[in-house]
This record gives sequence, structure tokens and C-alpha cells, in this order.
Amino acid sequence: MPKTMKGVLDLYWETGTEGAYWVFEDDAYLSTRIETKCRKCGRWWNPEKPEFEPDGDKPIENTGLIMRSCKKGEHDVGPVEVPTRDYEGLHILKTGDRLTVYSKDDPSHVLWEGNVQLTPFTVYKDTWGAYWIHNKPKNIDIDVWGRYFLDGHPAQLIIKGK
Ligand SMILES: [Zn+2]
Repeated sequence: MPKTMKGVLDLYWETGTEGAYWVFEDDAYLSTRIETKCRKCGRWWNPEKPEFEPDGDKPIENTGLIMRSCKKGEHDVGPVEVPTRDYEGLHILKTGDRLTVYSKDDPSHVLWEGNVQLTPFTVYKDTWGAYWIHNKPKNIDIDVWGRYFLDGHPAQLIIKGK
């Protein structure tokens, strides 16, 4: 019996990879940790330096997105439980993997199901919007595919040959 994993999709960067990977993150490796953050805007706080207040909107590294910040003095800071995923549970998708993508609103609703088919791995050749990516899907529109990963859709994965 092939091993079926449940988890979420993500775009994954690592320093030195020069682009994003299409990855699946296994829920079996999901846990939580406590961070000190603003509950309104999500900005991270250094618990050792509470007087240092981050201000202004901040670009999110490598994404072209901007993280909006509260105005100075309007943050609501406290401990927040944030999900954290172990690297062990991260799978870079490969051609031949069996993937099922579900709706975020209704996780029983299948949006796409099929065998992953990717173009060959490249460095600094492929882009999707503002993102450097290593390869593109061959059997689904890249804008549809990319949103599944950017938005972190729930998914099921069976790795080829396992
Ligand atoms: Zn805030």
C-alpha cells in the first residue's frame, strides 16, 4: 500500500536555492510554538526588547508582498500560538507524485487531482509573477497551480514509488 499523507501546499525558499520549490508539508510534522506578536497586524516582537516597536509596512522577503503594520502605539502585543512545521515533513514535489488539492473553504471538495508533471529543474530561468521558480507544471495552468501553493491549500500526497 502506498503511503498517503495529508498536509498543506506551500511555496518554499531556502537560502541558496535561488527560487521557490513547490512543496507539500505533512500534517504529521505540524506542531505549535509560542511567539510574541501583535494580534492585530501579526508583526513579530522581540520579548527581550519590548520597547523596540516595529513601525511601518514591511516587505516580505522574496515575495513582493507587503506586511501591513498598525500605527505606532496601536499594536496589541502578547503571546500567540503559531503553527510550526518540521523540515522532516517537507516534500519537494516531483514528477510522478500523486497529488490531490482540496478547497480551503470546504476541505472535502477536490479542486484538482492528478499526477504531478513538472518541467526540468532550472535556476534563474523560470518565473511565475514576481517569483523565481525552479520548474513549472505541464498539465495544469500555472496561475491555478501557483495559487494552490501561495494560499496554502489542504492536500493529499502519495510519493512516487513509496
Ligand atoms: Zn500591530
